[in-house]
Amino acid sequence: MSSKKRKWLDEYVQYGFTCKEERDGSQRPQCMICNAKLSNSSLAPAKLKEHFLKLHGDGKYKNTTLAEFKVKRARFDEKATLPVLGFVPIDKPILTASYEVAYLIAKQGKPHTIGETLVKPAALKMASIMLGKAAEDKLSQIPLSNDTISSRIDDMSNDILAQVVADLISSPAKFSLQLDETTDVSNLSQLVVFVRYMKDDEIKEDFLFCKPLTTTTKAVDVKKLVDDFFRDNNLSWNMVSAVCSDGAPAMLGRHSGFGALVKSDAQACVGNKNLASKTGRSTKNRS
Ligand SMILES: [Zn+2]
Repeated sequence: MSSKKRKWLDEYVQYGFTCKEERDGSQRPQCMICNAKLSNSSLAPAKLKEHFLKLHGDGKYKNTTLAEFKVKRARFDEKATLPVLGFVPIDKPILTASYEVAYLIAKQGKPHTIGETLVKPAALKMASIMLGKAAEDKLSQIPLSNDTISSRIDDMSNDILAQVVADLISSPAKFSLQLDETTDVSNLSQLVVFVRYMKDDEIKEDFLFCKPLTTTTKAVDVKKLVDDFFRDNNLSWNMVSAVCSDGAPAMLGRHSGFGALVKSDAQACVGNKNLASKTGRSTKNRS
């Protein structure tokens, strides 16, 4: 296979592609319009043209000239070399770290600013003392600003959701909910709902959704937020085995009536116990 690697020709730029070199020296075409990286075997005029016509043929790039694409390529490749110099774009471990930290912050119900004010400085301090300057520099690239954390939490709710919901529906066992509250920088509070469920004989824990809360939000309103979410995602209270609201707003406390509201809908046992205390805390199960 390696003997038959295709080679890039500069004329391919007319199809909106540039050339990316892999670590093993092989070349892959990358579309400058949609950033798609194709395989080495697609490094042929017919394939590149097919991609361009099929995906971008109607768009604003339809009449792009060769000269224009050459300019675009120069800029595109320049951008792509920025990471080498230590600038953007964000690479995958950094992005993953950013998401994982956002998850922890949401999970603990901490204000989103804590990423910037405590988590990052603490991580940098530990890295510089124990691992050295290079490690500190590397960690300093992890975006943990208030905005980042908030948008990560939104992303998580969108991206993971479809998969989690499918898992919940297909799971033979019931799932548990944990309700928490998190506060963003403007002191707006949000209801954050996590779910714990069985998948492939393992307990998994995931972020389910978050919705803004107001000071006038009552138990019945929170119940409605969850109801609406359930309805939109084909879930039902009969699939719920437990609802825990340990760190949740007072409105969900033992005497608030939230538990009674849920009970009237299902046989779910509602407790103030953290889900983790029942099953042994292990966020590692989250994939
Ligand atoms: Zn494309």
